[in-house]
Amino acid sequence: MIQLLKIYSSLIEPLINIIIPSNCIFCNAAMENNKKIICEICYSELKKAPVVLEQKLRQEINNPNIDRIFIGYEYSEKLKMLMHVFKYERFTALASHFASAIATLIRYPEKIDLILPVPLHPRKHRERGYNQSELIGKSLACLLSIEYRNDLLERKKYTISQTTLNKNDRIQNVSDAFFCSESLHDKTILIIDDVITTGSTLKACAECVLKNKAKIVHLAAVTTPPF
Ligand SMILES: [Zn+2]
Repeated sequence: MIQLLKIYSSLIEPLINIIIPSNCIFCNAAMENNKKIICEICYSELKKAPVVLEQKLRQEINNPNIDRIFIGYEYSEKLKMLMHVFKYERFTALASHFASAIATLIRYPEKIDLILPVPLHPRKHRERGYNQSELIGKSLACLLSIEYRNDLLERKKYTISQTTLNKNDRIQNVSDAFFCSESLHDKTILIIDDVITTGSTLKACAECVLKNKAKIVHLAAVTTPPF
């Protein structure tokens, strides 16, 4: 099996890339790698999130025990499309771009003990095949040399999609949804998700981690749509 994978990645995959070149979904520029969806130029044009956004999110999430909230990009139609294909259409190579954007915001990575992704319920994980927050979290941990664990925070409740719910229903939907399997005594934790919509999912995760004795909790996401 490993041998077959090696043959695929060394011989077949480069051939597929030549036969089926991909084009940037925004400017139509041809790209060598068919796993890409956006060219480097269009990617570099995405706007970084404004500083005021953290303040707004802090008010929205309203938990004084949450320290920093790191947001990579300002929300836009381009980013909305990228987040969609990243989450639902397996363009997972975007994870490293997203992680780089968040990494530039974190000035003291050495003070963070652990990065935890927002978990999916095992059933949803099976249905989707991957957890998009895990991919960003793993990439970010690698960039900043921080320990990464995807087995500490678990989602014990199968929640319906938050997208159709109002704020109160979202809070209710994720309340008691998470479980932390170990004590996080005295640790500084960064919890990462792909998008912050109302913040109720990340807030529920942060509360779970704080209940397990974490000292400081930071949150991070690629973007957040206007409230
Ligand atoms: Zn482009």
